[in-house]
Amino acid sequence: MKRFTTVTNLLQATSHERNTTPMLKSPPCKTIFQRLLAAAVVALALCVPPSAEAACNVHGVLFKEIKLTGPEYLGVGCSGTFKVTVESEAVLGDGATVWVSIKKQAGSDGDVDGLPVENVPVVIAPESKVGSATFSLTGKTHTSTIKKNVTLVATLVDGEHTPEDGEEDGANDCVDTHEVIVYKVDLDVSKTVLTLKHDRQSDLEVRVTPDDLTVQTYRIYIKRRSQGDSEWTVLKYGKELKPWNAIIAGKFHLRGWVRVNHNSNCYSEIHDVDVQFPSYSQIEGDLAVRAMMEEAWNLTLDACTEEPNERREFGFWIQLDTRADSYTRVGPMTMGPVAAPDGNVGIGLGDRPADSPTDPRPSSSQGARYPVASFHTHTPTTYLPGLSRGVGPSPPDRAHDTKNEVPGVVYDYIATQTIDNQGYIPMGHPKGAPAKRYYSAGYDRRPTPE
Ligand SMILES: [Zn+2]
Repeated sequence: MKRFTTVTNLLQATSHERNTTPMLKSPPCKTIFQRLLAAAVVALALCVPPSAEAACNVHGVLFKEIKLTGPEYLGVGCSGTFKVTVESEAVLGDGATVWVSIKKQAGSDGDVDGLPVENVPVVIAPESKVGSATFSLTGKTHTSTIKKNVTLVATLVDGEHTPEDGEEDGANDCVDTHEVIVYKVDLDVSKTVLTLKHDRQSDLEVRVTPDDLTVQTYRIYIKRRSQGDSEWTVLKYGKELKPWNAIIAGKFHLRGWVRVNHNSNCYSEIHDVDVQFPSYSQIEGDLAVRAMMEEAWNLTLDACTEEPNERREFGFWIQLDTRADSYTRVGPMTMGPVAAPDGNVGIGLGDRPADSPTDPRPSSSQGARYPVASFHTHTPTTYLPGLSRGVGPSPPDRAHDTKNEVPGVVYDYIATQTIDNQGYIPMGHPKGAPAKRYYSAGYDRRPTPE
């Protein structure tokens, strides 16, 4: 049994002519060859010579045309829909099926995924004598460079056919080609871990290879990594964002997108970018934060009196307003209750206030207000009886900050004595003695939202 492996123009043989199982079983195909023979007989009876327009001649049946259409551009990793259309000269009967294969032309530089496409069935409608099928191909990264010019070749094929004696294979011209330019979209991200306010700039740029392509539209998209694909929003309508000043905290995905020549869209690969909250030292070292803390410390000193003998703590939540790119207090200054000389002293800051808005869009240009640290003062011992007290964050201070997943700042006196790593100041310590800001362990920075 002779097997056709060359580019032939054969139609699917009837199943009784073959010893092997047809690759595609379709009821109409069983009689296609008979239909074709009948059509050929009709053609011969009418003495119709093959016309100059006829593209090919298969077992005496003329096929006018095989046509392969689709996008001229195909992005790497992105798919396009292609269509093959076959038109016969003669009516082939109800639902006659022919088979088409598509492959890459030898010598094509570029590459696509999905080839070869073997034996795509095409049903030819009797009334129009036309049939078509669609298939999908995906751009593929070529070895060293992204290269253009992948020529696709569509051919009317027969999986297996035994020509009878004297039968001609038909002209080798039931073929159409279509050239595709493969291109690649990349998104350059200069920095992938950013910190609100303190280190928030990254340069983003969409790049297309080969670079001589005409790109109509560029976009840069963003979404949270925890979100689904329907949540992508546009961060920038344009080729680049230099710099991108991140104002929303989160773990993000970024990708670029282009439209080439009005008929091909493609996304770049996805990049991970983390925009984190400021650290303890960044918050504590900020001049505006320092000023707010000094104000609270001075209020604390003023509130400590000998007659009556009383004192109280002051504090607040520190928030970062990313729209103004500055730190502010959440609400007014909070005062702790007045404490007697021999009583306990403390302050109730409450749990970390909610972000505003609570769940900002990653592409928001409005920014957000994020509580990022707690702050409170400790009181002087100037008028207190007794020997000494410990300085720095207390165990309840640390527990509060840990629970709220923030660093805390505690303003207290510098120790004059240290025992087992715990600093102390004496009772009767002067109000104006040196003081400093202590780190209240919890977190070095608020965890980055998912
Ligand atoms: Zn405290």
